[in-house]
Amino acid sequence: MSRQRLQQKIPVGISQCAMGDPVRFNGGHKHSKVCTELLAQCFDYVPLCPEVAIGMGVPRKPIHLLVGRAGAPVDAVQVVGVDDLTVDVTQPLRDYADSVVPELEQVRGYIFMQNSPSCGLYGVRRYLDNGHGIDSEGVGVFARRLQQQFPHLPMEEVGRLNNSELRENFLTRVFTYDAWFRCVEGQGGQPPESLRGEDEPSSRDNLPTLTARIIEFYTAYKYLLLAHHQEKTRALGRLIADAKSMSDDELAFAVRGRIMDILSRPASRKDRTNALMHSAGHLSEFLDKREKAELKELIEEYRLGHKPLSAVLTLLRHFLPRSPHRFIHSQVLLAAEPAELGLCDFH
Ligand code: SF4
Repeated sequence: MSRQRLQQKIPVGISQCAMGDPVRFNGGHKHSKVCTELLAQCFDYVPLCPEVAIGMGVPRKPIHLLVGRAGAPVDAVQVVGVDDLTVDVTQPLRDYADSVVPELEQVRGYIFMQNSPSCGLYGVRRYLDNGHGIDSEGVGVFARRLQQQFPHLPMEEVGRLNNSELRENFLTRVFTYDAWFRCVEGQGGQPPESLRGEDEPSSRDNLPTLTARIIEFYTAYKYLLLAHHQEKTRALGRLIADAKSMSDDELAFAVRGRIMDILSRPASRKDRTNALMHSAGHLSEFLDKREKAELKELIEEYRLGHKPLSAVLTLLRHFLPRSPHRFIHSQVLLAAEPAELGLCDFH
């Protein structure tokens, strides 16, 4: 989550109509400036339109999700023509999703267009065969298949990214997922950047084992995770400590899933305050009485909503060089966050 990281954009999948391409059923698009102007600063997009890709053409007859009853399971749907129930593209959309899996192995997030029977991620309207809308519990068939293929991949809807809190959360998840594959499960398996000294070589000869890399990653992300969910973070720590019966690969899959689950809950001010207090505790022995009081007061002002997070992080980073301890220097919580990078303030 460093500024340096942004020099190398992260590959992210996206519904093609959000890029401004005229691929919708009516020949239009749904251009998202947040995606193409703001988030494009750090994302390298892989745009896909599943309906065009399966040969439906532009323009095309509209389709929607068909279910037998209200509240039917999410996979008990068909994607059929609004005016012609015999047009059923359910399997072609699923097959197309399966066919792009190799291409999407490299992406570290996916942004889907809302309200689409192919791409919608949340609350897609579902219909009975008489054409009556019955509930809004659907997931687009293409999006659903990718959820199954990539269970931990950060996903979000275009419209929800207009909300700065949800946008920050998505960015945090994408940065973390990307870091995981660079540092833990990637081909290079490099230790987290924050844990590597400037002069420390990154030769493959002295790479730590997979389990050691998992532990290093968890250690570096510990306070960030605590800011999102304290109980689940402690449970993850116990899982790693007691993981002797698991293979390295099983442990990596389990830890990756738990980390992405913890981060899926936006950080609360209360939990962030707790994580900031922990961070301050590591520095207190290097501060004089006045500095300790200043830091404590600033964290309290943040807790009350009177000061932004960036103010606390700036002061913590100012004091950070005084500590010789690697643990606190490694904390990703103290690195530049999306809001500070200007990615959550869009006008
Ligand atoms: S929502 Fe998906 S299927 Fe529909 S036009 Fe956009 S990219 Fe294509």
